[in-house]
Amino acid sequence: MSKTYKWGLVGASRIAEEWLIPAINSDPNSEVAAVFSSDTARGRAYAERNGIPQVYDTIEALLRSDVDAVYISNTNEKHAPDAIAAIVAGKHVLGEKPMAMTIAEAEAMIAAAETHKRVLGINHHLRNMATHIRLHDLVKNGELGALVAARMTFGVLLPVANRGWRTDSVTAGAGVFFDLTVHDADLLHYILGTEAQEVVAMTANNGITSKEVEDTVAIVARMKTGTIVQITESFAIDHARTTVELFGTKASVFADDVLLQRGGGRVFVRKNGEQVEEQIDHVNAYDKVVSDFNAAMAGNGSPTVTGRDGLKSLKFAVAAREAARTGRSVLV
Ligand code: NDP
Repeated sequence: MSKTYKWGLVGASRIAEEWLIPAINSDPNSEVAAVFSSDTARGRAYAERNGIPQVYDTIEALLRSDVDAVYISNTNEKHAPDAIAAIVAGKHVLGEKPMAMTIAEAEAMIAAAETHKRVLGINHHLRNMATHIRLHDLVKNGELGALVAARMTFGVLLPVANRGWRTDSVTAGAGVFFDLTVHDADLLHYILGTEAQEVVAMTANNGITSKEVEDTVAIVARMKTGTIVQITESFAIDHARTTVELFGTKASVFADDVLLQRGGGRVFVRKNGEQVEEQIDHVNAYDKVVSDFNAAMAGNGSPTVTGRDGLKSLKFAVAAREAARTGRSVLV
């Protein structure tokens, strides 16, 4: 018997293969029914490898099919036009980050979803990590007191297999701002429960990306609450930790190895000269993205990250990019 929700994939991508196909198929309410790839032979091989019954070689054909939802994980410049086409065709849309290449495109996606009464979600999975839920709760419950400062480090040495359009294609939004900054901004909004007011930024190129694209950025943001945040993001850092640190008036918290795809990492709370490790039960963050989205299609709650949330993280990244290019502080 088929499950309640049939999903179609727009993009025969690595992220879908590694995380979203397993998440959709393991959920009791959904299954991957079809994939669209611009390369028919690659699409067929992908479908066979992943047990996907139907392959389409145009997005129009996928959108004419009976899938309920589409997951859009092709290159960044296609996210907004494909999402709008899917929504107009009556499909619910889970989009990849960055939500869109411009703020105007992101706003058009939100307007389309509202007009056509479709669910729109963005796959900022980090919000579902058990570590980040703990950080969010510590802030929300007031256990850290007032937050003076925060710091995030998202440094990786981008595997050679992941380079290509992501490091070199300006048209596809290559570089750290649309790859890492959007994720960090969404997480920051979630954990701190506020948004950035203004940002300054500096970039560098260490040879991982093409010369007109930044592979490293340092951002300083002032949040609306007054908290000062420092973020370092890079495709060029080997031997790195990914970290979130929050410095409050009552306590501070340090989270290590926590900005990855797989759930994991450690959280330590420091106060009164003592440091205690929190007990964390790790989960698969993508499974929760899918279960939240399926529930939203059924009329229960919202996606983990809504289109409006995605717009906020895109605004942060666009402002940081402008700040780096102009050397000025930019209001978000
Ligand atoms: P991929 O490079 O694997 O796939 C992107 C597109 O490239 C696919 O849609 C496919 O097009 C095409 N493609 C795939 N393999 C090949 C190939 N061998 N030769 C030529 N073209 C190919 O991208 P990722 O999976 O790394 O990223 C996809 C999206 O997901 C991006 O927007 C990225 O930002 C986002 N992402 C999100 C993550 C998250 O945790 N939320 C993590 C990683 C990525 P076609 O379908 O037409 O065949």
